[in-house]
Amino acid sequence: MGLFSKRKTVFVDSDILVIGGGMAGCGATYESRYWGRELKIVCVEKANIERSGAVAQGLYAINCYMGMQWDENQPEDHVRYARNDLMGLVREDLGYDIARHVDSTVHKFEEWGLPIMKDPETGRYQREGKWQIMIHGESFKPIVAEAARKAATEVYNRIMVTHLLMDESKPNRVGGAVGFNVRTGDFHVFRAKAVVVCAGGASHIYKPRSTGEGMGRTWYAPWSSASAYALPILVGAKMTQMENRIVLTRFKDGYGPVGAYFLHLKTHTENAYGKEYESTWYEHTKALVGDYVDHLPVPTCLRNHAFLEEVKAGRGPIRMVTKEAFQDPHKEAVGWENFLGMTISQAVVWASQNIDPKLINPELTTSEPYVMGSHATCSGAWASGPSDYAPDEYQWGYNRMMTVDGLFGAGDTIGGTAHKFSSGSFTEGRIAAKAAVNYVNDMKREKLQISEKQYQDLEKTVFQPMETYQVGRNEIVAGTVSPSYLLPMHGLQRLEKIMDEYVGGISSHYTTNEHLLTRGQELLDMLKEDLDYLGAEDLHQLQRAWELQHRVMASESVTRHTMFRKETRWPGYYYRADHPKLDDTDWHCFTLSRYDRDSGEWEMEKAPVYHIID
Ligand SMILES: Cc1cc2nc3c(=O)[nH]c(=O)nc-3n(C[C@H](O)[C@H](O)[C@H](O)COP(=O)(O)OP(=O)(O)OC[C@H]3O[C@@H](n4cnc5c(N)ncnc54)[C@H](O)[C@@H]3O)c2cc1C
Repeated sequence: MGLFSKRKTVFVDSDILVIGGGMAGCGATYESRYWGRELKIVCVEKANIERSGAVAQGLYAINCYMGMQWDENQPEDHVRYARNDLMGLVREDLGYDIARHVDSTVHKFEEWGLPIMKDPETGRYQREGKWQIMIHGESFKPIVAEAARKAATEVYNRIMVTHLLMDESKPNRVGGAVGFNVRTGDFHVFRAKAVVVCAGGASHIYKPRSTGEGMGRTWYAPWSSASAYALPILVGAKMTQMENRIVLTRFKDGYGPVGAYFLHLKTHTENAYGKEYESTWYEHTKALVGDYVDHLPVPTCLRNHAFLEEVKAGRGPIRMVTKEAFQDPHKEAVGWENFLGMTISQAVVWASQNIDPKLINPELTTSEPYVMGSHATCSGAWASGPSDYAPDEYQWGYNRMMTVDGLFGAGDTIGGTAHKFSSGSFTEGRIAAKAAVNYVNDMKREKLQISEKQYQDLEKTVFQPMETYQVGRNEIVAGTVSPSYLLPMHGLQRLEKIMDEYVGGISSHYTTNEHLLTRGQELLDMLKEDLDYLGAEDLHQLQRAWELQHRVMASESVTRHTMFRKETRWPGYYYRADHPKLDDTDWHCFTLSRYDRDSGEWEMEKAPVYHIID
């Protein structure tokens, strides 16, 4: 202890603890106050909620808005859309629940000052596509954060949450969380009656296309480090659809989004020879997935699939045809602004590579896989559904409560509900918070029991990498290589290589099989053993160490789910070469896993998919 004797332990007691102040966390914090006027509501964030999370640098469109006030879409339509895009497998109860409330969330954003573009002729919100509306969104996150800040009893910025606490008076009940301040090193013990995990998705579990000097350039935010999955997994919460990673078609090297180009600028793609290629792969794809290929809109993974096959056939690069659209000065401005509002780096990459989209059709590529629950995939925790809508089998308590009592989640954290995006994640945060307030009220005077031993043991674990480094730092054999410890960066690169080569990353054309997965799991086990020897030279590296721990935990879950589902459900996201076809007879179901932290064993099971909407 001598080395860190200046470290303080800070105790914070609350009724509701929100972990992560991104879109979902801000929604949960805001709504907790609405229903729990007298409650103590605390939000804890590893960055600063003003500019944290995937939306940090702003957005150009809100991708989930029904437009019910103008009868543009109904919630049922959105469920059909998400179900189609995910090849039949979504939690329709959860998706419907978000869709019926999401418009009111967007109206709040506008009330709070978010400029939403209007169609000059109709006066309605300017649509980019059927579900998207266009915004001037550079300040989206600060606007949303202000609402959360005003609602919270306290926001704790710069605290990385590492573990959840469990109530010792009742089995399987959460009791809070611990973490450390990444600036001061203080250890924080948050005791809370209900916890809402809103810690975002996971980038950097697969080796990215950009490595070395460009390794921070990923599509999903590089700071999304899988805490949303690792925290619940470690306390035994069931997870679902963790195999359902996402791969995105994006502009090459900058990951600039293509949605506005397709939808608003009406551009299209072509192969190196100027030919349309998607139809070439129709019969081939039909043989793999049957009628799903005829569904409209064509599921995202299947469009990736045609792209990948065309490139494998040697007719790449695939390009976005921008030259025509960019002759129109208005469209040209929209094309650039689309990046300046949310992916400035794409504009910089084009400038640095002499790409003027008015003169050159820019290249596209497919990204490395990411794990998340709010985009066109639905990995995450298995949650109880809304009492008025969920089938019995999907209800065991409060809405959005996981299989651990008092543990709620929203946004990327919750599985089975794709296509929620920024607005849907905020909405789900609100839904989870309302249920969490009910949970706290129902607890009445029940008290939590968290022993000193529980959090002191965790404190030792959390700071161990700094101790390991201090003790072993003089034993460096070359550069940063030491026989006594592993640096977080070394561990991260090892993880990315394992996931890339064995669990379906870019270098294997997203393809894996049982043999590869088995070996990948063995290598992950070895990596896990070595994580006991992580070394952190300062608090920044300590944060990296815990981000790595969380990424490894989520990666193991991805690997086990991928092994369990013996079919290729989403060609274009990944391929089980030993089960190359979609198999609705055996696998029209959810995959569930549960990690037992005492034994280190994983249990896998199937859960039924209920189609509630016709
Ligand atoms: C490149 C990109 C483009 C996108 N484009 C659009 C778009 O155009 N329109 C749209 O509507 N949506 C878009 N999205 C999706 C949208 O951003 C996400 O759906 C949404 O942000 C998910 O909300 P969340 O709260 O789950 O995660 P986030 O908003 O990412 O928030 C997670 C928060 O948890 C914090 N955190 C993580 N780990 C810890 C920890 N251990 N301790 C404490 N805090 C922690 C993070 O710092 C972060 O603040 C885009 C996303 C990306 C990455």
